[in-house]
Amino acid sequence: MVRFVDKAAELHFDHLGFSSHAPIGFRNKFSIQEEQIPQYLAEIEMYKPKYQNLTLYSALECDFVPGLSIDFEKFTDKYDFDYLIGGVHLVGDSSMPELWFIDGGDPKVYDYGLMNYFGGNVHKAVTTFWEQTFEMIETQKFEIIAHFDKIKMHNHDRYFREDEKWYRDLAVHAVDLIKEKNLIVEINSRGLYRGRCDSFYPADFLLREVAKRDIPCIISSDAHKSEELPLFYDEARQHLKDAGVRALVALVNGKWIEDELL
Ligand SMILES: [Zn+2]
Repeated sequence: MVRFVDKAAELHFDHLGFSSHAPIGFRNKFSIQEEQIPQYLAEIEMYKPKYQNLTLYSALECDFVPGLSIDFEKFTDKYDFDYLIGGVHLVGDSSMPELWFIDGGDPKVYDYGLMNYFGGNVHKAVTTFWEQTFEMIETQKFEIIAHFDKIKMHNHDRYFREDEKWYRDLAVHAVDLIKEKNLIVEINSRGLYRGRCDSFYPADFLLREVAKRDIPCIISSDAHKSEELPLFYDEARQHLKDAGVRALVALVNGKWIEDELL
């Protein structure tokens, strides 16, 4: 953690949020354990007074799976988190033998799930992802939606094209729901600098929809290593501006306030 804080200070960042994967209620390879949470929060608190010009936030990224993930609100009830981020990495529900893992470095895992859990029915698989995203936005109490078109990551135009009407309608409906629930969208560069994806999450056509609705935005490099913190940061700002986004938001004394994109 100290490496991230030092790096952010060196880069003259104003804000840095930590968001480990929240415990989700079943075994997985990526989340922290609930018993680690007090230590995680204590470590962030410890660094706060040492960096006067850098505001640190404590958060969790919650992986929503209908009927399977736990009630994440218990973390904000029980602990002092600044915000929760919601994201979909595992597609499906309790009726499926296994969940479709759409993240990670191996496109074969994506292809396997698509073929074996959805019988190769791309429309059904992609629609399931978006419907899960809709349900997350409508039922969960998260402040920020992470990488909300992650479904495209391993696609590379192999199974569907992002300019197909059915796909656009689903994705734009997610933007409408985000607006309705007053949530924040992140522009996320991880797919780009890891070489797994050809564009930011969300894609430019979605950023334009975000801008039209005046939905608040933040920039995230989704860094898993400190040296990843600044990657594609300037490009992200430019994409937001080109899409018509006027401002970013930052949490100041418990309130999200706008910071003009200059
Ligand atoms: Zn994520």
